[in-house]
Amino acid sequence: MSDRTPVEYLVLTAGGGASAVPAALAAEVGLEAGQLAALIELVEDRLVLPAASGPRRLVVARLAAALTGPGAPSAVDRCFEAGLRLGAVAGGGRIWVADGVELSDPERDALWRGAYLGAQRPAAPVPEPVGSARNVRERDALSPEHPAPVEGSGASASGRPTFADGSEPPQLTTARAEAAAWVRELAERPANRLGPAEFAREIAAFAASAGRGLAVEVWSLADAEQRGFGAVAAVGGGSSRPPLVVRLSWGDDAAPTAGVLGLVGKGITFDSGGVNLKRDAGELAWMKSDMAAAAAVAAGLTLASAHAEPPTGRRVEAILPLCDNALSGSSMRPGDVIAHPGGETTEIVDTDCEGRLVLGDGISWCRSREYGRILDAGTLTDGGAGLRRTGLWSNDAGLARELAELGDAAADPLWPLPLPYGEEALESRVAGQRNAPMDRPDVGRHAAAFLAEIAGDTPWAHYDIGGTAYMEHPIAGWPEGPTGSATVAIAEAVRAWMRS
Ligand SMILES: [Zn+2]
Repeated sequence: MSDRTPVEYLVLTAGGGASAVPAALAAEVGLEAGQLAALIELVEDRLVLPAASGPRRLVVARLAAALTGPGAPSAVDRCFEAGLRLGAVAGGGRIWVADGVELSDPERDALWRGAYLGAQRPAAPVPEPVGSARNVRERDALSPEHPAPVEGSGASASGRPTFADGSEPPQLTTARAEAAAWVRELAERPANRLGPAEFAREIAAFAASAGRGLAVEVWSLADAEQRGFGAVAAVGGGSSRPPLVVRLSWGDDAAPTAGVLGLVGKGITFDSGGVNLKRDAGELAWMKSDMAAAAAVAAGLTLASAHAEPPTGRRVEAILPLCDNALSGSSMRPGDVIAHPGGETTEIVDTDCEGRLVLGDGISWCRSREYGRILDAGTLTDGGAGLRRTGLWSNDAGLARELAELGDAAADPLWPLPLPYGEEALESRVAGQRNAPMDRPDVGRHAAAFLAEIAGDTPWAHYDIGGTAYMEHPIAGWPEGPTGSATVAIAEAVRAWMRS
């Protein structure tokens, strides 16, 4: 079959067999519903039908069984996964749903987005001649006004799914899908083609093309140091590609500080580990994606800005530290002590725990300016909540609940986890705290505790997308590679702040 053969997507219920095949679909391919159902039972998930009007490809996905225990996927999430499985087989299908299945708007949104993202394959970059890395650096005097073209694309226009009933996906649905697709593209971009300067340009270009009313500033290393970003200077100090901080602002510039939502996203364009060099070749091989959280925050804010008018008295500011955590004679060393913008100090005992350091700079910036709420995201640890749910830590139970509900409702699921209690893992003799425990394995709650200490009394939450941002193996409908996780959840958190 050629790629142009029309594709029909069919969603069936978990255990209900194929008996509910829509009669209209069967009629289109010249069969009785019962005949088509019998064919589907024989071949399971994909078949080619010789319709009178020409062959059709039929792709079938079943909604996962409705589990009921804690952490079980919601109906929305089951629709998203079914969509992923449909799109993965062939892009651009017409979506049919089994008779008797009524989908809510959030379920239709999730199904469509899943089918779009399932079909997307972040484009392979075009190779350049030897020496190109240097040429890229020299050519790219940083210029947000002249953004480089975005490489590759999501599913092409012709690869978009449609609904068989002729209804359009909501505008927000396509924008959500495209935002997540952009994050996947960048997270797949190899580090020799995405250093801090290239990443900053891509963020500015996406904010300009997909957002509305976003102000973009790019702070050089000197700008960042002058503002007290000691962790950014330390983490980026080992690389010939200097660190940058991107600041995005959206909303009322005259908003009181309590009306500002501060967002912070970890943007490590490659994480070698530094002096605490990573030993696991398998892990190193995908460390180009250690910038996925900064991309998700930028995309989430951009997405939110495009679909709402900011109210008076409210503003959102995203601080995105972009660094190459490299190993050289100028790398930070274990034992170094650094200061954050608000004056907090950290003893660096593990240079591979760099994400929480740069997030600490951003959180400290927001706290010292007395912003009303702070949300941060990073690929820090395995996340503590598996590969589909992003682990969420907060110093405010109500905020955690609100964010988890927003993420779950948008098929970008979160799982609130407890901050450590009765542990003193991060005490330092020479600074406010150390960046990792030395006497026990470092896990997500330690990173969260480090950030919570800097957030202080400000209502704060932390998305650890280390488990969900990049799949080392195909799982739950995702192929190997980046997922764009937390993009939509963060966009929803921004929208909620602007509504509150
Ligand atoms: Zn690291």
